[in-house]
Amino acid sequence: MPGVGKGTISKRLESEFGIRHISTGEILRKASQENTEISRKIRGILNSGNLVPDDFMCELIKNEIRQDEKKFILDGFPRTFKQAQVLSEFVEIDATLYFTAKQELIIKRLEKRAKDLEEFREDDKKEIILNRFKLFEKNIELLLQYYRDRKLLREIAAGMDIETVFKHTKEALELD
Ligand code: AMP
Repeated sequence: MPGVGKGTISKRLESEFGIRHISTGEILRKASQENTEISRKIRGILNSGNLVPDDFMCELIKNEIRQDEKKFILDGFPRTFKQAQVLSEFVEIDATLYFTAKQELIIKRLEKRAKDLEEFREDDKKEIILNRFKLFEKNIELLLQYYRDRKLLREIAAGMDIETVFKHTKEALELD
């Protein structure tokens, strides 16, 4: 879910356990700042809150993961059923974390983030947030089913304070 805190939790996992955090959103935001045709296209998609096409995303993630890398956290990928299928062809997933929170709480958090200059993102504007939610809702059920069927799904209530959410995340991943 957009704004549910997956980036914050992933960064903590990275710093405490040395597991590399790969955020497709961050990679795309960086790529969107260059002055090329493809960057302009990415920028347009990000700013509208739409999803970058599956083929592009699958290539991006294939290039990002190193062959010799044993552990990593994928943050924001897969976001569609197709992405999950392609991912399974070259990566063995240990667990899929699904962070949940009430939509009203998330909207409040995102609106707060939109006011923070350091964290400012064009796609945290109200109407764009609503589009991101719409796409999330369109894709999530199939993804949940996919990972539930494979017994990889761990659900985490993410509306609580960060320490509690982090504790539950570590438990879900059997880390400590
Ligand atoms: P995030 O930082 O994860 O909220 O992602 C920000 C934006 O990047 C999303 O709203 C999408 O436009 C794009 N994006 C990130 N990950 C993906 C993905 N796996 N598939 C398609 N678009 C993505």
